[in-house]
Amino acid sequence: MSISPPATRDPGIRVREVSENRGHPVLGALSPSRAGDFLQCPLLYRFRTIDRLPERPGLAAFRGTLVHEVLDRLFDLEPQARDLAAATALTEPALADLLAAEPEAAFALEEDAAWPGPVPEVSEDSRTAVLAQARALLEAYFVMEDPSQVVPEQREQLVEVVLEDEFVLRGYVDRLDSTAAGLRVVDYKTGRSPGPMWEQSAMFQLRFYALIVHRATGRLPHRLQLLYLGNGEVLTYHPDAEDLDRFERKLRALWTAITRAADRSDWRPNQSKKCQWCSHQALCPAFGGTPPPLPGQPDSGSSLTVVQ
Ligand code: SF4
Repeated sequence: MSISPPATRDPGIRVREVSENRGHPVLGALSPSRAGDFLQCPLLYRFRTIDRLPERPGLAAFRGTLVHEVLDRLFDLEPQARDLAAATALTEPALADLLAAEPEAAFALEEDAAWPGPVPEVSEDSRTAVLAQARALLEAYFVMEDPSQVVPEQREQLVEVVLEDEFVLRGYVDRLDSTAAGLRVVDYKTGRSPGPMWEQSAMFQLRFYALIVHRATGRLPHRLQLLYLGNGEVLTYHPDAEDLDRFERKLRALWTAITRAADRSDWRPNQSKKCQWCSHQALCPAFGGTPPPLPGQPDSGSSLTVVQ
């Protein structure tokens, strides 16, 4: 069980710490997003975790990365300096650093550019537009909490726990705060709070974070919060030990289902309304496509993928 020391912060974007623990040789570790993929659609899980198919960078995800980066930098400042003007001033350098570190992110900003293809030039209009969107989300953030009063213990923190040899739970937590009531886990969401279709996924993510933090540190978080900057709402969860025990059993059952699917190479599509956001419809049998051979199988043209 581990919670690593915070990643060192050099000038520029924070380089996320990468675990040295590979977990399962093919499937890697289980994270909230990969677990969510399997629950949504086993074939989507396969495409992302085993085939590791590239996906076009999306504007919403990039906007989220930008706002996370700004909020992370904001907490590098002394508490009294963490105001909206400071956050606003941080957006432009954060955008420049993100585009320098990940040139492919330009596809997110230039939505008409053909992908895959040459990385497009980011126009001034696109920069201005995404900066304005990020600043509006930061304004919403300052209505929701006062960062000068927040005492983060960790930020952008890798947290993982080894439940069994090849069964590793892993996640990155935006913020772990010390409060009078105890440990608080905070995650920023730059979209709106979920409707019925997504609320279960959000609660799943909160329980996942609660479980890894508890198992990794021995401390039961007092409260977990998802801050939805898109509409100023907060989803809160107060975990208790029994609920987390039940959730751990659920994750073990999920992991059994995933490893069984891997053993049988049986990754079935599960068509739903969420398919409209899937990048892989062209390869999906539910939409008339054919998945590529699994890595390591004849004709795949590649060796077995080892997930880091
Ligand atoms: S299109 Fe739908 S069914 Fe097909 S892989 Fe994507 S999520 Fe699964």
